[in-house]
Amino acid sequence: MLKWAFRLARRRAGAFTGLSGRFPPPKRVVFEISDRCNLRCSHCGFWRLPPEPSSPSTSDWVSLLRPLNAWLGPFSLSFKRGEPLLEPSLDPIIREASSLGIATSVTTNAMLLDAERAGRLAAAGLSTIRLSLDSLSRDVHDSGRGRRGCYDKVMRALELLAGLPMSVSIISVITSRNLRELAALTGFVSSRKLASVVFNPLQRAQGADLEGLWPGSEAGAALDELIAMKKAGAPVENSVSHLELMKDYFSGRLASRQFPACAAGRQFTVLKNGDIQLCPHMQAIGNIKRISARSAWGSPAGSAVLGAIAGCRKDCRAYSCNFDAGAYEGLRLFAKKFLAPAVWGRQ
Ligand code: SF4
Ligand code: SF4
Repeated sequence: MLKWAFRLARRRAGAFTGLSGRFPPPKRVVFEISDRCNLRCSHCGFWRLPPEPSSPSTSDWVSLLRPLNAWLGPFSLSFKRGEPLLEPSLDPIIREASSLGIATSVTTNAMLLDAERAGRLAAAGLSTIRLSLDSLSRDVHDSGRGRRGCYDKVMRALELLAGLPMSVSIISVITSRNLRELAALTGFVSSRKLASVVFNPLQRAQGADLEGLWPGSEAGAALDELIAMKKAGAPVENSVSHLELMKDYFSGRLASRQFPACAAGRQFTVLKNGDIQLCPHMQAIGNIKRISARSAWGSPAGSAVLGAIAGCRKDCRAYSCNFDAGAYEGLRLFAKKFLAPAVWGRQ
């Protein structure tokens, strides 16, 4: 009975997500235009990596947009990893994307965001800016980010961005340092009338110093509080199902869950060296200097990686970039109603 239910749910999951046999084109694209950062955050392994040997030029990045738009229709473009404001190619890419009606979002630590820079981003047509803020305590935020003054930069940036024609959000990494103030951060976002706060679970990033940062099972109560706030209308961007999933992630129980599958195949990333990647832990499916993203997606290499993603149940599916609430919420409700907890996991 349990096996039958599991097979049925897997089939339904495949049909629901379109990942059984046919792979729908993604709606989210990430350009990793930067391999540099001006901070040294303790939870991040990125700044410890060696720089990429070569990279696409600004015109290479810009010229990707029209074919992507023709292939994907409306999609969202984000710039992640490193500090995108360090890269001169950022504004021309945003400008072209904006002219094509593509929604863009930038995640930044705000260190370079003065009035002139904010104005230029607005003039280029940036849709959303996300400022990294892990704590309302200056000391806690600055010590995690490895540099004094970061907290004040974020607060100043919030003032500069008020009134500019773009959506402003906060992004926070959940660690043991800020576990007791997730609700306060959410309250801060509401009181400042910002668009949203998105919480990202601490990642087991290669080379990062996670000593003492892992929240463990204590995260459950903090996440329950967030779930209650979200249900009451607080501007928490994560879905309830994602916050639920984080509880299992932090307590090490995610491995026993079958659903949801990873959403890595619902987006693709173009790395700083031009590689097209669907999952950061799997092989690239091509490089933009040699193949279009569309061709790579439909290639045998693309299909092989998409198939591997559909069957992958590693716990990095809890990261915000790998969780797609919209696709899985219906499945979650179905599974909760009809399947044994052993199949779906604790609710
Ligand atoms: S978390 Fe972001 S701001 Fe901090 S070092 Fe890593 S890339 Fe830079
Ligand atoms: S769970 Fe992790 S390894 Fe598996 S497909 Fe998703 S991102 Fe890749």
